[in-house]
Amino acid sequence: MISLDEALDFVLSLTPRREPTVVPVAEALGLVLAQDVVSDVAIPPFDNTAMDGFAVRAADVVEAPCDLSIVGTVAAGDNPTDAIGPGEAVRIMTGAVIPPGADAVVMVELTSVDGDVVRLDESVPLGNHIRPAGDDVQSGDLVFERGEPLGAGHLGVLCSLGLTEVQVYPRLRIGVISTGDELVDDGAPLQPGQIRDSNRRTLLSLVAQAGAEGVDLGLARDDEEVIEAALRNGVAQCDAVMTTGGVSMGDFDYVKAVLSRIGEMRWMQIAIKPAKPFAFGTVDGVPVFGFPGNPVSCMVSFELFGRPGVRQMMGFDEVIVPRINAVADEDLDRRVDGKTHFLRARATYGTDGRLHVRLAGGQGSHMLWAMAKANVLAALPNGDGVSAGGEVEIILLGAAGA
Ligand code: AMP
Ligand code: MG
Repeated sequence: MISLDEALDFVLSLTPRREPTVVPVAEALGLVLAQDVVSDVAIPPFDNTAMDGFAVRAADVVEAPCDLSIVGTVAAGDNPTDAIGPGEAVRIMTGAVIPPGADAVVMVELTSVDGDVVRLDESVPLGNHIRPAGDDVQSGDLVFERGEPLGAGHLGVLCSLGLTEVQVYPRLRIGVISTGDELVDDGAPLQPGQIRDSNRRTLLSLVAQAGAEGVDLGLARDDEEVIEAALRNGVAQCDAVMTTGGVSMGDFDYVKAVLSRIGEMRWMQIAIKPAKPFAFGTVDGVPVFGFPGNPVSCMVSFELFGRPGVRQMMGFDEVIVPRINAVADEDLDRRVDGKTHFLRARATYGTDGRLHVRLAGGQGSHMLWAMAKANVLAALPNGDGVSAGGEVEIILLGAAGA
């Protein structure tokens, strides 16, 4: 058995980031910037009001209460050109340009209107409620640096800057193949010995959650020709391929036979439970992940090896989900076997402000139901487990997604 770190290092040595590409901002969610973004504009572009109220000259309202005459109205989007003079006020709406001559805004709640006269209850300082041009971003500012993952707010900023395209590391296309003669995916009644293919949908979903595009390469029978055709089809059109099933020590592990022949693969037995068997390497230079078939093992293997590899290829600087400490709310038992165990657990915040974990359900590697309900993996190092009240390291599932 090799260590988790050795297997991960091997994956990361063969999953280089892709060449940058330019995409519309509208398609950049979850991608990583491959350029620095320097602003050539100010945001906001003009002095504007943060409040609905009246634009005034601060000098006119030093003595409050006082009355000013209302000489106009400015809504957001208007372009006021008339300057306000001494003793005058302009009705103004949030986001509207501060009219020439005004240097403060009095919010509407502190005013009362009688005809075309407004009474101000309190004096306000110079610049009150005015958001100056460039308050958020100034022209020439380095707004985002290469390597910044683009979230919803980032895309909004890029739009504010007037950008319609941005240079990023491309969204990966990842082919997913499931293998096994026992698998059915057409909704037909199960014949004796058959089960339904769950891993392909799960993997395609994990890939999507990781910000990549999943390509469904179908279900391949346990047949070398069929598996080879699916793999060749995958590496021809995808940036990486993920298979599930057929990589352990069974007599019918044809994925292993095919990949050994057409790829440069490493067959690993990793000191972890679940997900001990894992294959990784390349076919025609394209990374291929051979995940185990047991549904929980498949998901855990994706979290430990698939997600970091995908993130690195997509340009993320941080590819490994950090582990955090939590409190075990029940005994987390295990026996000494030289492996790190990843238990499927649910974490919730306690009244002490700490994360507390309990098992999500059965811990068999075929028990996908408990994995589905888990929001963390609890990592138990080799040993005899953690007693209730003790500390345990957890990995948040899906935390390093888009
Ligand atoms: P294998 O890795 O092919 O030896 O499969 C290990 C176990 O996982 C067996 O019980 C398989 O039936 C099951 N399995 C393999 N692939 C899938 C799949 N795509 N969906 C659900 N179960 C699977
Ligand atoms: Mg199989």
